[in-house]
Amino acid sequence: MMRRAVYPGMFDPVTNGHIDVIKRGSILFDKLIVSVGCNPSKASLFSIEERMEMIRENTKDLKNVKVDCFSGMLVDYLKEQKTNIILRGIRTISDFESEYQRALTNRALNKEVETVFVTASEQYAFLNSTLIKEVVSLGGQVSQFVPSNVERQLIKKCKHIYEKNGS
Ligand code: ADP
Repeated sequence: MMRRAVYPGMFDPVTNGHIDVIKRGSILFDKLIVSVGCNPSKASLFSIEERMEMIRENTKDLKNVKVDCFSGMLVDYLKEQKTNIILRGIRTISDFESEYQRALTNRALNKEVETVFVTASEQYAFLNSTLIKEVVSLGGQVSQFVPSNVERQLIKKCKHIYEKNGS
């Protein structure tokens, strides 16, 4: 049986931590669909297209990984993608709590849905997109946290903030 899974997230932008999860998922599953969530109630720095493109550029060597986007209910999207498996990453205890709630909610919405967790690599366990955006907007280096094309895009987006800070 072909095992497919969906790895959903905001990926605003994709980090080395996300890429680590994608690599692990591509080994665990026959096909992994990395899907950028469109959530109009959450402000994002990058457009859906920009986020998808940055993921694509950094996963092109993983032949069983596809990049997509979705809006609305994840359980409906899973049906569309003909899978019942959600892949997520866990960094910290606080991740565990929110991920556990999400997993149980999705299961309550569709009892066939199963959430599979992989643990972060310790070197990326502290990474999150929000902190990375903060560092860039203050003029800091993020080359150890994100791929180089993502760093370039971040600097481009945050240029006006830099200039305002006089750096
Ligand atoms: P959210 O859905 O909370 O916006 P993200 O889009 O940033 O989260 O991340 C999607 C998934 O990737 C989540 O399961 C999150 O726990 C996981 N993740 C993010 N960063 C890392 C990391 N550094 N290591 C492992 N998993 C991560």
